[in-house]
This record gives sequence, C-alpha cells and structure tokens, in this order.
Amino acid sequence: MTTTELIHSADAHLYQNYGQRRVALERGSGSYLFDTDGRRYVDFYAGIAVSALGHGHPALVRAIAEQAGKLIHQSNHYLSEPNVALAERLCALTGMDRAFFCNSGTEANEAALKLARRYFYDKGERDRHVVLAFENSFHGRTMGALAVTGSAKYSEGFGPMPGALHVPYGDLGAASRALGPNVAAVIVEPMLGESGIVMPPPGFLAALRQLTSERGALLIVDEIQTGVGRTGTFLASQADGITADVVTLAKGLGGGVPIGAMLTTAALSSVLKPGLHGTTFGGNPLASAAALAVLHELTETNLMRSVIERGAQLTEGLRAIQSRHPVVTEVRGRGLLQAIALRPGTELPPVVAAIRDAGVVLVSGGTNALRFMPPLVISPTELDEGLDIVDRTLTRFD
Ligand SMILES: *Cc1c(COP(=O)(O)O)cnc(C)c1O
Repeated sequence: MTTTELIHSADAHLYQNYGQRRVALERGSGSYLFDTDGRRYVDFYAGIAVSALGHGHPALVRAIAEQAGKLIHQSNHYLSEPNVALAERLCALTGMDRAFFCNSGTEANEAALKLARRYFYDKGERDRHVVLAFENSFHGRTMGALAVTGSAKYSEGFGPMPGALHVPYGDLGAASRALGPNVAAVIVEPMLGESGIVMPPPGFLAALRQLTSERGALLIVDEIQTGVGRTGTFLASQADGITADVVTLAKGLGGGVPIGAMLTTAALSSVLKPGLHGTTFGGNPLASAAALAVLHELTETNLMRSVIERGAQLTEGLRAIQSRHPVVTEVRGRGLLQAIALRPGTELPPVVAAIRDAGVVLVSGGTNALRFMPPLVISPTELDEGLDIVDRTLTRFD
C-alpha cells in the first residue's frame, strides 16, 4: 500500500482514539527510522522510551527468533527458563526480591495497587485502602491506574474513580498532611515522564521513603518510563539511594516486545497468593527472552556507561540550543530522558510536525515540553545529527 492508501484505510477502519497520523513507519536500523516513502528520520523518541536497543539490534533479533523457534507461549501453568532467569536478573539489578510479569505498564501498576490493598486487608487494616498519588502524574489508563493518574486530561468522564488522593508533585508538606492512617500506599514517578520530564526537588524520593516507612504505608515507585537504564542508573530511584516496597517497569524492558514487571520486597512476597492475581500472557517465554537480551546488552556491553556519556552530550546540545533560541526556556532531565520547555503559549503539534518533516521524530510532554528519549544505543554522530536538525527547525518558532 502507498502512504495515501494506508491513510484512507486507517481512516475507515481504525478506531479513532489516536490523533490523525500522516506518516507510516516501515522499518528501522539502529537509531534511524524509515517511512513507507523511504524517508529517513533520526529516532529521538524510541516509540515512547521503549526501543532501548534501537531497531534491528542483532542480539535482540536473534534472541526473539531463537525463542520463537522453541516456544512463544505456554501460559503460567509451567515454568520457563527465560522467565525465571529474567526474574533473577531483575532482582539482582534492583535489590528487589520478587518479580511478577505482565504485558504493559498499566498492568504492572494495577498489580501494585491490588497488592497494596490486599496487604492491609490481610493485616486486618480494612480501612487502609487509599492510594496517595501526585498531580500531573501518569500511571496508565485502566480503571485502577487511571484513578491514581493525576490529570483530568486522562480521567475526565470515566469516573467515579474513588480510592486515590492527589497532592502537588514535589510538595513534601502536602504529602505528609495527606498521608493519614487510611493511606495504603504512595505511588510516585522519580520524574514526571508524560508531563514532560519534570524533576522533583532534590531529596523528594528519599523523604517519601522515610515518610511512608514512618507511617506504615507502602512506597510504589513507578519506573515504567525512567527504568531499565534510561537515566543512567538501572532504576532512576537508585540515584536517590532508596529502595521502594514495589517498583513497576515496562516500556524499555522488552526492547519493544510488550512486557511489564512488578518487583516487590521479600516482605510482600506472599500477599498475592495463588488465585488472587494473574494474566494469560504475562512473562511468556518470547517476551522474557527479549527482556533478557535487553538486560544483557545493558549490563554486559558498557551500554549503561554510554547512556551517561550520551546523556551528557544531549544536555550540552540542548543547552546550546537553548542559548540560540529564545523559544526554549529550560533544559531538564537526566541521561537519555530529557526535555526542553518551550515558551508558554507555543503550540506543540506544529513544532513536532516541523521537526519530523525535517527528519527527526520526537514527542511532546505535558503542555509545553519536547521530550528527547532516543534509543539507549544512539551513537554520538546520530545524536549530533538529530540535534542539528532540531536546532535549525526551532528558528522558525523563535
Ligand atoms: C507509559 C507509562 C505507564 C503506562 O504504561 P503502558 O505500557 O502504556 O500501559 C505508566 N506509568 C508511566 C510512568 C508511564 O510512562
């Protein structure tokens, strides 16, 4: 099909829950993407922080192909080596003790929310069921995950959604005041991803860790966007020196193959007893093999060091862009999860489209930011090439 034919068929048959899409991507190589008309783009968004190893990475392709030839799926009635090995690896990388696997970030958070409530139910604290979350957070779109997501943009019209309280992100005093005896858990992103890579004040996560411990509530850290090496440490929260009770992962974990994970401490390992939670596809051998390949690349090939180096290059490049463009008001983030804020009132879709037409795909975040989250394997040259294109294109919006 030509691009035009694709667009016509999509308009006629796809459910219209996404905005109009006028470019169809066909293949990728490293940190480049190619559309159906053969145009090349530098990938600065990795399919929303997913394609950690870029496109067509030989180790990932091989792992998927080999596992597909052995066993793609077999349900959770039997063990499979890739899945067990993945759990072991994730626990070693994070200091957590147990892994539950599912198919998306939303599902990982859903499991965490169920676990928190059931934990206090079993302890006889039946009134302790509220989850404290933060304004402008994003935790997913199922009813439970949506209830804790802190933005009316996602939740309006889908209520009632009881069970969550929201306070401003980064406001420790407000969190402390809201953290009453009915609060089962606090759920927090180490930095607000969908809201445009908003950093909390230094020490915020550590203070939340202390607060939840003092009050007997669980701390759930949503690392779905920040985890799997994206910010230069395996978990972003490791840079804060904290261990959560529950960590959720997804996005980059499978390098593009859908997989989510909920990691817990040993103290929580028997809350969701057999029969209380599960999923048909979760942790299947194919997705597990893909995730193992991602983790192997990340830890055995200096990729994590490269994320730190490329992150520094990205910060430097974005600061240089800021110095040349009045439309850019701020550079923020860490590692390969960064954003530039644009002057308030700047319409984002035309900027994203202009940059795409010039040869870079990226995505906005929140109301005024452009996010930069390329594949973790991006090379110095690819990064500079993309930054040059962004630099030249922004001139039109100054
Ligand atoms: C993307 C995201 C989710 C939801 O993950 P899905 O895989 O889209 O369900 C949850 N939390 C955060 C922080 C995310 O970035």
